[in-house]
Amino acid sequence: MTHRILLAALTAFGLSAAALAQSAPTPLQARYDTAIPDLESALGHDFGEEITPPEEAVDYLRTLAEAAPDRMQVFDYATSWEGRDLVYAVIGSAETMARLDGIRADLQALADPRGLSGAERDTLIGRLPVIVWLGYGVHGDEISSTDAGLRTAYHLLAATNDPVANTIRENALVIIDPVQNPDGRNRFINSFTQARGLQADGYRYAAEHDQPWPGGRHNHYLFDMNRDWFIMTQPETRGRTAAMLDWRPMVIVDAHEMGGDQSYFFPPVADPVNPVLTEEQLEGHDIIGQNHAMWFDRIGSDYFTREIFDAFYPGYGDTWPMMQGGVAMTYEQGSARGLVWTRRNGGDLTYADGVTNHFIASLSTAQAAAENRERFVRGFHDVRAAASTIAEGPAAILLSRETNRWGAERLARLIARQGIEISRIAGGTTACGTALPEGGFHIDLNQPAGQLARTLLQRDTPLPDDFLDAQEDRRTRGLDHELYDVTAWSLPVMFNVDSTECANRPNLPGDAVTADEPMPAEAAASARFGYVIPWTDAGQARLVAALAADGVPMRTAASEFTIQGETFPAGSVVIARASAPAHLDSLMRLHARTIGAVYAGLDTSWTEDGPNFGSSQFADIVAPRIAMAWGEGTDPNSAGGLRYVLERRYGLPVTVIRAATLARADLSGFDVILLPEQRGGGYAAEIGETGAASLSRFAQAGGTLIALGDATRFITDPEINLLPLRRERAADTPTGNGAGETALVPGSVIEDNGALQAALEPRNARPDTAPGALLNVTANADAFLSAGYSQGAAAMVTGSDIYTAVPLDEADTVLRFAGPDTLVASGHLWEENIAQTAYKPFLVSRRTGAGFVVAFTQDPTARGYQEGLDLALLNAVILAPARSWRLR
Ligand SMILES: [Zn+2]
Repeated sequence: MTHRILLAALTAFGLSAAALAQSAPTPLQARYDTAIPDLESALGHDFGEEITPPEEAVDYLRTLAEAAPDRMQVFDYATSWEGRDLVYAVIGSAETMARLDGIRADLQALADPRGLSGAERDTLIGRLPVIVWLGYGVHGDEISSTDAGLRTAYHLLAATNDPVANTIRENALVIIDPVQNPDGRNRFINSFTQARGLQADGYRYAAEHDQPWPGGRHNHYLFDMNRDWFIMTQPETRGRTAAMLDWRPMVIVDAHEMGGDQSYFFPPVADPVNPVLTEEQLEGHDIIGQNHAMWFDRIGSDYFTREIFDAFYPGYGDTWPMMQGGVAMTYEQGSARGLVWTRRNGGDLTYADGVTNHFIASLSTAQAAAENRERFVRGFHDVRAAASTIAEGPAAILLSRETNRWGAERLARLIARQGIEISRIAGGTTACGTALPEGGFHIDLNQPAGQLARTLLQRDTPLPDDFLDAQEDRRTRGLDHELYDVTAWSLPVMFNVDSTECANRPNLPGDAVTADEPMPAEAAASARFGYVIPWTDAGQARLVAALAADGVPMRTAASEFTIQGETFPAGSVVIARASAPAHLDSLMRLHARTIGAVYAGLDTSWTEDGPNFGSSQFADIVAPRIAMAWGEGTDPNSAGGLRYVLERRYGLPVTVIRAATLARADLSGFDVILLPEQRGGGYAAEIGETGAASLSRFAQAGGTLIALGDATRFITDPEINLLPLRRERAADTPTGNGAGETALVPGSVIEDNGALQAALEPRNARPDTAPGALLNVTANADAFLSAGYSQGAAAMVTGSDIYTAVPLDEADTVLRFAGPDTLVASGHLWEENIAQTAYKPFLVSRRTGAGFVVAFTQDPTARGYQEGLDLALLNAVILAPARSWRLR
């Protein structure tokens, strides 16, 4: 067995035995203790021979732990949506493992340097092993890392003659998370297995490499979990971040795969780097990267550094743990996307090659950490100590509960879930020049988790000036920008919660908020006439949705009204006891407490101002029957995010219909049809004009059709024309294609360099692509779909879709982008895009026959991280069907 691995490795890397003999043995030449089961004996295939399914990977770790219980323990940390176990293994010497509880206590003490004396600190640093966290396969079709993780665990337990393994065992505790996305990995393996034949096929277009929609990258709800770390929408992410806060890893790896023609990436990272990270953390990248270079040279593998993969967005599997004080890295191996991939140069990349590279990089990481144990343990302490005493920037953040009570409560829990200290301000105070009549929340940014707290909570994390200059230079040369992800993520902005940045630390005593504390509800006492639910935030809309599902008759107001001395905003919902189920009181209390919602009792129906409940200003709420386009033609991220938000955050079940089926499906049973963003041939290919006619009839008959993001392109296409919006080319761009219809065109003279530049300007250019900034939107108070947005909101804008302003008689612009001076709420947007986006539509609706056509020009539910826009979506999903003229 051992000998066979050795030979396989030799062959894979084309090394001669003579060449190897010239240097010390590598881990690929290790001898193994036969008391520890190898993969072949446990699962029937060797490392790299087959793509190990997620359940078998977990089984193998459990088998290893049974064989060496004194040196390895397996911990369950989450269950995927589809019911699969997520686990991590902790591996160390028997001596280290025997004091695991003490180590965990020491780690928590080291993570909060504020109360430590110098002597206590040095004692902790002296006795702690370096904690190394190796995470694999967060993207389910990036397959080789999981088997590398299994091989790393086996090697650390079973290698008998490897000095690298010995160093690691002596100085490190290694945590292996082998399958971060079991549902996605399972999906990939299914499509691969169904397509494979007599032999593995390296042809890149073979079906075994060509995954059907949605592919294995995402989890069950089609989230890219390498963007989810701070927003924590998915159970896999929540379990993993909680485990990291338990173990406080100092060196962290998130192992991926990239295109099969590429080699291997490890840090140093590309620019830009988030400014909260320190030079010392980046030096850690150099120490580990140089060790990898040594190993990759010895095994004959290519690599690259400092390109493509940056460290700016805090939601990656490397940046989030880094902002907790660690040194964290993304590794990328070229993917065989199966068992073998023929590269453009004709060479074959095998699955085993990928497993070997990730295995060597994993060991090299743990080795570099172990050899520099004190440096990494002390570095972790120092980052968290320095984060507690930062002098620049705001000192504290206050969150108000006043305009978005439910959103502020949810945001406070999300902040606490990241290990960031946050406290609840007692009601009615003024601090940092801000009045907080309903209390709110206080975050002192000078705290051990201050790096993460700062970048998540301050209004803006600026891009470095020299990076921006370089991007502007690239744009003038017609080159793409080099940002890997968005430039804005400020949580108060994304949650539409008013926040205040304090220059000094206010003295605000309060109770700590915990992640799992129940949401506060305000249930009214039973009242004679019935109840009113103020339409003020998304939690209130969720209460209405829950009651509608239970068959409680309700009516929503088109305008504000005053009753019993209190004014309720447009959208607010009234329930009359006389027509409600007998157990109305208990239903209201139960749902309000579960959700954390608010309602008031009404002893009378007499309004002092505004319409009476019997007025046509009040419309009957229906429990909306919701369908959405799904499958080929839709963008998995957008489709999954939309379905997740409606189902899991608001309890609204969604029927998903393959886009191509929409044209022939009977849609009359639905109140709402949603079109998420497109991919590939999009809706033009899948739905086409026949399907568009069917969608038009759906709206005419009283349905609400809602397009999100670039689905707006489809419904505004002149051939389809469900909304009179048009997409713009870049302002000031030359029109025409410059080429005549005939072979010969009129002669021209280019006078000078300026004329040359003008001749080279692209024709009909699109606006430059926005990498992602949060832009302010303002509400049209006359539109019922703007209920709850009198203060406006912010929307994430990516890409280059900008739509024309639409005349008042053609459609309602419900939310539009703010003017140029106040447009950017957070992040970076090119000057030309600011000028062209200002005042343009974000949310548009038009009554079409008995129903509505609605478009969000940007996707509000992408990544599920813009909770501040949820109410706008719920307005379209709940209030528009109430205002439909459908005959029932
Ligand atoms: Zn990846």
